[in-house]
Amino acid sequence: KSYEVMAKQKTNKSQTKCSFCGTSIDPSKIFFSGEQEALICGECIERGHMVIEDQTVQEKKDGKVNIDKSKLLTPSQMKNLLDEYVVGQDDAKQYLSVAVYNHYKRIMYFDDDKRDASDVELEKSNIMLVGETGTGKTLLARTIARMLHVPFAIADATALTQAGYVGEDVENILTRVLQAADYNVDLAERGIIFIDEIDKVARKGDNPSITRDVSGEGVQQALLKMLEGSVVNVPPKGGRKHPDQPFIQVNTRNILFICGGAFDGVTKNIASRLNTKVVGYGANEKRSKVDTENLLKYITPMDLRSFGLIPELIGRLPVLTYLQPLGKDILLQILTTPKNSIVKQYEKLFEMDNIKLTFDSDALEYIVDKAMEFKLGARGLRSICESVMVEPMFKIDTLGEEFNVTRKFAQEKFEKNNRLLANE
Ligand code: ADP
Repeated sequence: KSYEVMAKQKTNKSQTKCSFCGTSIDPSKIFFSGEQEALICGECIERGHMVIEDQTVQEKKDGKVNIDKSKLLTPSQMKNLLDEYVVGQDDAKQYLSVAVYNHYKRIMYFDDDKRDASDVELEKSNIMLVGETGTGKTLLARTIARMLHVPFAIADATALTQAGYVGEDVENILTRVLQAADYNVDLAERGIIFIDEIDKVARKGDNPSITRDVSGEGVQQALLKMLEGSVVNVPPKGGRKHPDQPFIQVNTRNILFICGGAFDGVTKNIASRLNTKVVGYGANEKRSKVDTENLLKYITPMDLRSFGLIPELIGRLPVLTYLQPLGKDILLQILTTPKNSIVKQYEKLFEMDNIKLTFDSDALEYIVDKAMEFKLGARGLRSICESVMVEPMFKIDTLGEEFNVTRKFAQEKFEKNNRLLANE
């Protein structure tokens, strides 16, 4: 039965009040009618919906989850899986898989009821990934969360502000992981949170007391509490839009935090440190060993400190590793080799229209060259490909059985369609 029809019938009858709240029903607004003259107004329905939703949240929140040791991947298995999606970055992969493995061992250790209070206390191994934008930091974190089947949330540190200021509160990060866990607190408490652009909350300047540093040190302090492990009152639907919602308590003790940042300019620091060290006897020998193309490799917690992160926060991110800038070869591989590489995605799209799509290798090289030229890293590959492929995809029904992308074709379409060139 259509509610609308019923509504019309009912309005002719005597009762025009909501049977729940008793207020008069405005026939121009939404309301529902039931058997025996019962009417319910839109507002009551909305209130009822909220009650049910809160109740569901409450119920889900109490489910218990245990980690099954037999299902836990070893670090080398994790790395192999990462290899399927992320090209290169072997050092980061190794650090990450060891840290994640230890993290879950630590959780199991906490879960163990027979554990003696005097046993060794295993500390959390939050991770700091340093690397230029577009080198795969988010991709690594996301891939690892997906293969562990744990809830994963991404937060952008630039949006965060100290509680009470305009912007996002730090607790909202936990709202996201809670949502990713479908409000199961136990599951959320074992999730992974990736905090991007952590370098943007670095303290600006050396004297923090002159101005109120709303987005800098205050945020670092708030993050610190969360990273250390504390019980946080989390608004289940996030922020200030729903001020009346009941809080859910989330313990962050077992949440793994992965922070990422580009730390622009930090390499200068590293370079000068390396140079001052290598003076005197044997200096030349040492200097020649320094990989000047990839100075991030030598990053230390001290460099993060000079950049403006507070030492306490650095201390809570004990696993520090780096991502390499992506060279031409790596970009070429990113284009073609990962399980869901851009080229494979286009091939699939064409295959669904029964067209065999191929790329000449110099066409791919052209795309990579352009990504390098505009300093877009891997992030640019997609948009460049898109400007090359948009026309054939538009005419996909007229292409026949095969379609080959040559360098000439790629160049023509890129030069015609790409907005980057217009900005030059
Ligand atoms: P970051 O977080 O370091 O800024 P992302 O992880 O968001 O960078 O990467 C941006 C894009 O580039 C993603 O779409 C990802 O697919 C691709 N990408 C970057 N690095 C790699 C890599 N090493 N292997 C595969 N794809 C990569």
